[in-house]
Amino acid sequence: MNTQDISNIKLLLSTPKKIVIVPHKNPDGDAIGSTLGLYHYLIKNNHQVQVITPNDYPNFLKWIPGEKSILKHDSQTKICDNLINDADVIFTLDFNALHRAGNMETVLATSKAIKIMIDHHQAPDDYAEYVFSDVSMSSTCEMVYHFINMMGDLDIIDTNIATCLYVGIMTDTGSFRFSSTSSKTHQIIAHLIENGADNSHIHNNIYDANSYKSLQLLGCALTNLKVIPESRTAYITLSQEELNRYDYKKGDTEGIVNYGLSLENIVLAAIFIEDKQEGIIKISLRSKGNFSVNDMSRSHFEGGGHINAAGGKSYLSLKDTVEKFISILPSYNKALNNE
Ligand code: 5GP
Ligand code: MN
Repeated sequence: MNTQDISNIKLLLSTPKKIVIVPHKNPDGDAIGSTLGLYHYLIKNNHQVQVITPNDYPNFLKWIPGEKSILKHDSQTKICDNLINDADVIFTLDFNALHRAGNMETVLATSKAIKIMIDHHQAPDDYAEYVFSDVSMSSTCEMVYHFINMMGDLDIIDTNIATCLYVGIMTDTGSFRFSSTSSKTHQIIAHLIENGADNSHIHNNIYDANSYKSLQLLGCALTNLKVIPESRTAYITLSQEELNRYDYKKGDTEGIVNYGLSLENIVLAAIFIEDKQEGIIKISLRSKGNFSVNDMSRSHFEGGGHINAAGGKSYLSLKDTVEKFISILPSYNKALNNE
């Protein structure tokens, strides 16, 4: 985003507008934190603002300030489509291509609203008039902070904005441990705490919200963990039957893939989760160092993401998906063993 873009957006937002904010399908902490952080900021500037998610999100995000105002496109399609068609401006947050918004893709593409993308994924599409894209950023929440700074409004960050942005920076950095965490990230976090983000309360709300069943599901996942030492790889499977057994709710599998990566000597971790309703195996990949799971997911699993965290899907059975994964690993052995 250049200085001309910034002046144009300042001018655009200098009078009240009808604004819709959209994150990717299956929104995570960064998607919900960034959309709601921007929501509170724009409301403070007298705009008429609506956050619309493509679908539902985990319960551990259902306390974030403003969350109750969110509309979900899959269950409230008509009212959401009307708002999108009627909007002056649409912000798309935490995704780089309209198909990542699931069934909202068409209505977003045909809406005449001015689109502004804020995102940290690689290879952004060119659907937006204004693109603020930076893969070096820890999170979209960090970018919303920078966006507010570009608008010259850092001084209006309040408890609501600070809390929302803290959530996404915390979740997308694995609580400030991934290499995307910079000194600037910590400076921003310090500023958010100074302006009302209650860090201990936020950590509790997000990470200490397990149900008994969800911990048992984690136990099942860890029992299923397999290691392929020659490829420095660990993977986990969860079948639909296992998910049903432990009363699976959206969000219950969040973060489980990271347990594979916590093993000594492992640089690639995967989880394969069967979703009978969608007819897919949902795949999450994580890596350490320079090994790009974004490339692996793009090449083999119709997905993408970042160098060290990516996702994708497979239409094969759970067993065949795992076999495919194991069969492609040898071609990566050299890269995996160089980490
Ligand atoms: P997760 O594994 O937590 O679902 O996602 C990890 C990262 O990969 C996130 O940045 C997410 O946006 C991205 N990602 C997850 N699934 C997909 C997918 O199917 N396609 C693409 N392009 N990116 C994905
Ligand atoms: Mn993100």
